[in-house]
Amino acid sequence: MNIHEYQGKELLRKYGVAVPNGKVAYSVDEAVEAAKSLGTDVNVVKAQIHAGGRGKAGGVKVAKNLDEVRTYADEILGKTLVTHQTGPEGKEVKRLLIEEGCDIKQEYYVGLVVDRATSRIVMMASEEGGTEIEEVAAETPEKIFKEVIDPVTGLMPYQARRLAFNINIPKDLLKEAVKFMMGLYKVFADKDCSIAEINPLVTTGDGKVMALDAKLNFDSNALFRQKDIIEYRDLDEEDPKEIEASKYDLSYISLDGNIGCMVNGAGLAMSTMDIIKHYKGDPANFLDVGGGATKEKVTEAFKIILSDKNVKGIYVNIFGGIMKCDVIADGVVAATKQVGLEIPLVVRLEGTNVELGKQILEESGLNITAADSMADGAEKIVSLVKA
Ligand code: ADP
Ligand code: MG
Repeated sequence: MNIHEYQGKELLRKYGVAVPNGKVAYSVDEAVEAAKSLGTDVNVVKAQIHAGGRGKAGGVKVAKNLDEVRTYADEILGKTLVTHQTGPEGKEVKRLLIEEGCDIKQEYYVGLVVDRATSRIVMMASEEGGTEIEEVAAETPEKIFKEVIDPVTGLMPYQARRLAFNINIPKDLLKEAVKFMMGLYKVFADKDCSIAEINPLVTTGDGKVMALDAKLNFDSNALFRQKDIIEYRDLDEEDPKEIEASKYDLSYISLDGNIGCMVNGAGLAMSTMDIIKHYKGDPANFLDVGGGATKEKVTEAFKIILSDKNVKGIYVNIFGGIMKCDVIADGVVAATKQVGLEIPLVVRLEGTNVELGKQILEESGLNITAADSMADGAEKIVSLVKA
């Protein structure tokens, strides 16, 4: 789960990690009020969306007085911001962070990730702050320093010191930088983060080390024990189809192709996407309805696929093990009765109650193309969608 920058900073502040003073605003008037109450000469107006690259896209503006705060807030609020992380459709800005302007001396990068290779949390740091870390990794990998953290001891002060030293934090600020890194690690470990990225971490004219940006992601599987983090969820930032799917406990991920897939089992769902690609088609989603899905669940799943305007055809690929083919057939028929079906539908059923499932579909009067195998079905749906 992803949260906004201002929420991330609120959390960091609780852990003693230095961040600039700031306030969230939902309207232009609130933005001006926020700037007034901060009482600083220079304020920064920052678009709050779940994506980075806002600066380059015009979503971060430095305001030298309250009039400028008003102008920029008016300009950014309601705007659809397109950054390299939003995709071409962009994201509408509904919240702003009004933050005190910072006298930046130097920008750095500090990040924490879970490294699968070592099965450890790794802290990374670089003196190339402000730019994309992926770019630094590609062009000057020698400028990225890493510390692998032992889960028993946590981040050790000597590791933080070594990182701060390696990225050339000025000597008189080493202690501040170490404190920052230790606090950041504590947040990461305590709150079950999957990513914590501070880009930039800055040193300031008045001798501080602080986070000017904060990107925190959380492990969704751990949210049951992170009640305060769930409070930060902003449904406006999420795909409505995925929200709907999560209500029914369906594993659904929206993709940008045009072939909707309804499959049971994550492995079969993955290979269904592969085989569609193999026949030069593009899946519109990953969907695993699960093993013990009910008719209601299958109905909702099928409706979610149908609600996607990009979907030009649907491929139902089911192997009935625990799942029964007649339950799938019932769900498909119920969903199409409710919302109609104007696009091609290819169905491949195999396994438990397959004959009954096929019979239900046949008697439904729906225009269904039957497939004999997984490959046959993929080939058929790709050609139907292209036709
Ligand atoms: P993004 O990564 O989405 O572009 P950032 O929060 O990193 O957004 O902001 C982009 C740049 O704007 C930063 O690298 C920094 O130079 C500047 N900036 C951001 N916040 C402040 C602030 N409070 N004071 C001064 N400059 C800021
Ligand atoms: Mg940034």
